[in-house]
Amino acid sequence: MNDEPLIRVMALHAIEYCERLFYLEEVEEIRVADTAIYDGRRFHEQLPEYVTLEQFVLQNEELGIRGKIDCLRTQQGMLVPYEYKKGHARILPNGDVLAWPSDQVQIAAYSLLLEKHLNRPIMEGRVFYAADHRTVSISIDEKMRNQVMSAIARAKELRASTERPPITANERLCARCSLAPVCLPEEERLVEQVGRDTVRLFPEDRDLLDIHVTSPGSKVRRAGNTLLIEDKDGQKRSFPIEEVGSITLHGNAQITTQTIHLCANKGINIHWVTGGGHYIGSVSNSAGGVQRRLRQYRALIDPELKLRLAKALVIAKVESQLRYILRLTRGSEVRKELESYINTIRDVLSSTNTANSLDELRGYEGSAAKDYFACFSRLTVDDAKNGMAFIHRNRRPPRDPANALLSFLYSLLYRDCVQAIVTVGLDPTIGFYHQPRSQAYPLALDLMELFRVTLCDMTVLGTIHRNQWKVEEDFIQAGDQVWLSDTGRKKAIAAYENRKQDKWKHPVIGYSLTYARALELEVRLLEKEWTGKPGLFAMNRIR
Ligand code: SF4
Repeated sequence: MNDEPLIRVMALHAIEYCERLFYLEEVEEIRVADTAIYDGRRFHEQLPEYVTLEQFVLQNEELGIRGKIDCLRTQQGMLVPYEYKKGHARILPNGDVLAWPSDQVQIAAYSLLLEKHLNRPIMEGRVFYAADHRTVSISIDEKMRNQVMSAIARAKELRASTERPPITANERLCARCSLAPVCLPEEERLVEQVGRDTVRLFPEDRDLLDIHVTSPGSKVRRAGNTLLIEDKDGQKRSFPIEEVGSITLHGNAQITTQTIHLCANKGINIHWVTGGGHYIGSVSNSAGGVQRRLRQYRALIDPELKLRLAKALVIAKVESQLRYILRLTRGSEVRKELESYINTIRDVLSSTNTANSLDELRGYEGSAAKDYFACFSRLTVDDAKNGMAFIHRNRRPPRDPANALLSFLYSLLYRDCVQAIVTVGLDPTIGFYHQPRSQAYPLALDLMELFRVTLCDMTVLGTIHRNQWKVEEDFIQAGDQVWLSDTGRKKAIAAYENRKQDKWKHPVIGYSLTYARALELEVRLLEKEWTGKPGLFAMNRIR
């Protein structure tokens, strides 16, 4: 018995459009319901009265396909299947009107299904294009039948493969493709044609909310498809589930099992963070990513690739540190005082590319970090009067307010990195630079390096310099440990989340996007290092 699942006729439509689209949707199970898809659905719901959709569901084991025919009509004694499309028909320069190749294969596949079901020949199928109100007839001849059978055979081949097919050569298809934000075809073309004007197919912002539940004793529950958050004083907030990207529960905030089920169903990540800001763990529904993870495992056991990626990562981090210090001290007397630290960071940067091992690289990175934080220390001398001086980096536990704040923001960043990795369908436990020594996921720690300066260090120093912290209110001293208070935590979360919404232009890819989006983009570019065209990962820098 053949236990292979039947192929959807819509998947044959996809394979004819672009093999990579078929693979992403049918094999990797990535589906993005964009406006065009919603419009298509609505269109089927709002067809004119003279069109009666009967929607015959058919399947055939021998063909290996299944599908839903929009409508059947009898024309001169022959049964004719119809497919209704919202868009335009294909019009050739000579004025001939045709159905698009993918639509032809779709209606031909329905015709073959119908033929098997009724045991009588189907010689014609029709596609109605609502945008120009035309019906195009397709002859179900030998050529069309062979085309359907080839599409089925190719679909089976691709289903058995773990490799993503390459991007299509026909750029125009990508502009209308719902999976362009996942596939990133323009970015791949950029690798081959440096300096090319990339068309942005990746959304500028991530429209979803990252919700934090910080008040002790708060409870998150669901009411239908709405998320309700109630704190212990009875204050309520509510969010439609479609608007939620993630929920982070701080301290002892509670969430009901029903809400966890709903979030798992909708692909919403839930994270738990201790009251002190230590990341505990998360729940995410990452089903369907087997091929992505297999490719990741295969790639990240290669020591050469790991070293190359790690170098790119460390160079990006150290260069951002250097640029930030240079920016802060531009035209200031302090620059002279920091000159020796700045020079050491420069030396480290030029040596990093010569590193022959990950350990050597870690040595360079550690040395740059020491001098970078020494600069931090000098740059907060004047903030000592407010209790916000950064003497030196200390953690686990932090022993002064500046370090408590920095550690807390690093925890939030770690959470976002885990989320971005899981969203893309990679495994956060397999990284290329950090060792799997602690409970923290190595790949999330790797990714963090690219955003520490922009999302955390700049937020910490910026808010300190703007006197936004009141040590007595915002921090709690417990022995030699310092934590953020409830008020401090709320302020820190607001500062961090605001920073994530800042827009920034990627120096290589050439378009602007929020940092919230940049995190996911970077994971997708990382995946291209082993699936597609390498060379775009870790190219982001602060200006
Ligand atoms: S974006 Fe382009 S290359 Fe990628 S799946 Fe869609 S059509 Fe194919």
